[in-house]
Amino acid sequence: MARKLIYSLRLIRWNYTYTVYEIAKLYGISDDTVFRWISREGLKRIPGTKKYFVHSSDLRRFLEQKNARNKQPCAEGEIYCCKCRKPRNPKSDSLKARRIPNKSIKIFGRCDVCNTDLHTFVSGKKWSELHPFHPDRNAPTKPPSGEQGTPRKCQTWKEAG
Ligand SMILES: [Zn+2]
Repeated sequence: MARKLIYSLRLIRWNYTYTVYEIAKLYGISDDTVFRWISREGLKRIPGTKKYFVHSSDLRRFLEQKNARNKQPCAEGEIYCCKCRKPRNPKSDSLKARRIPNKSIKIFGRCDVCNTDLHTFVSGKKWSELHPFHPDRNAPTKPPSGEQGTPRKCQTWKEAG
């Protein structure tokens, strides 16, 4: 899946009432997407109006939260680096994989930009030799050796799957 959009809040006018169609046009998205934001994702519309009007302050608040969520997930092949504060590609020769008791695979690697230890989890179902994190050079059964000391505290990873 492609990286999720980050919506620019600077495009939103102050103290303005938008229609769904204006919002869709503003971000180059479909009207249906905006209707879904309203019906399922909690974007507030102005009550008592037959048409779907959204106040700019509600739109801003909604997209702020949406952006915050969308910033975290990594594209396939990336792991969030807590030092860079960005999803990064792990160095391919640093990758190690270890099966953990709940059948997920724990992935260890190093950031290809700052060399910080990275880790993430891949669900066992998605795991195969074709997975981007599959170590090409190291036997996956070997426990990682670079695990001495306390790992950086990084609460940003999300369980895959
Ligand atoms: Zn980094």
